[in-house]
Amino acid sequence: MKQCLKCGESQDTSQFNKQARAKDGLFPHCKSCRKSANKIRYKSLGEKITKQVKEWQAKNPDKVKLAKERHRKKILMLKLINVLKVS
Ligand SMILES: [Zn+2]
Repeated sequence: MKQCLKCGESQDTSQFNKQARAKDGLFPHCKSCRKSANKIRYKSLGEKITKQVKEWQAKNPDKVKLAKERHRKKILMLKLINVLKVS
């Protein structure tokens, strides 16, 4: 048994991930605590990236316009090809 430093619950050592540099060779936080911590980290990372993309778009309106235009043309081409295939 090992006590989790985060939730304070005593759990079986199988509920802890291995960490070679730790004194007992196990992470101080249980697997479920680590899982929720990772979830929060990923969420904030996603928000950070979204923010960066938005900032880039605000700084590069011409490039955004160009990319949208390119995308629109590509879709138009695909639609045209489908029409040609059918007829
Ligand atoms: Zn825990």
